[in-house]
Amino acid sequence: MIIAVDGPTASGKGTISKQLAKHFSLPFLDTGLLYRAVGWTLRNQGGDADDAADALAACVFDGALLDNPALRSEVVGGLASRVSVHPDVRRALINRQKDFAYQPAGAVLDGRDIGTVIAPDADVKLFVTASSEARAMRRFEEMKRRGEPVNFDDILADILKRDARDKNRVTAPLKPAEDADLLDTTDLTIDAAIRQAIVLVNAKTSSRRDKDPA
Ligand code: C5P
Repeated sequence: MIIAVDGPTASGKGTISKQLAKHFSLPFLDTGLLYRAVGWTLRNQGGDADDAADALAACVFDGALLDNPALRSEVVGGLASRVSVHPDVRRALINRQKDFAYQPAGAVLDGRDIGTVIAPDADVKLFVTASSEARAMRRFEEMKRRGEPVNFDDILADILKRDARDKNRVTAPLKPAEDADLLDTTDLTIDAAIRQAIVLVNAKTSSRRDKDPA
């Protein structure tokens, strides 16, 4: 079974995907980390994130980098968002994601274009959203917990900027696949959102079994 989970930043899709992978015993890939690894490598190479050739040169990185917690920083997230606009960068990362999605064991992947580009025939596609204010508040609380200096308005502005970049890029823009189930987490606790996601997956897979009995 392939489960594709897409959605904007801080929508809860990462936590939901991880828990779905655990619940259904499937391997999990956070595809945002690949773009973050490119952003990180580009910064170390002194490249310009808005330059397509510099960004492409940063697509060669060691797989061990994906375990580096530094990739999770806001700065690297911002660079990831900028490098992900370049079609060459998306092309350079596509096989790795497709190979993961179509491995025999099945998989859960989360990102922006999993249901539309990476695994368009995924068994289940979830599009996880939440209002921009709710997402900014989550990011605010998270950063405060980590002891980082925070300003709500700056975080909200950054989220809106990243959303606009993700939605308006020409290649693989952020949008729900036509057959995706929407999950709005604005007013849900994370536990309730996970429960709802499991219900949606079970409903999709059982309706498929009914239509297509073995
Ligand atoms: O999900 P995360 O915030 O870690 O992703 C960082 C950035 O990478 C996003 O803002 C987005 O621009 C980009 N990304 C993407 N396609 C994906 C995953 C992430 O364009 N499948």
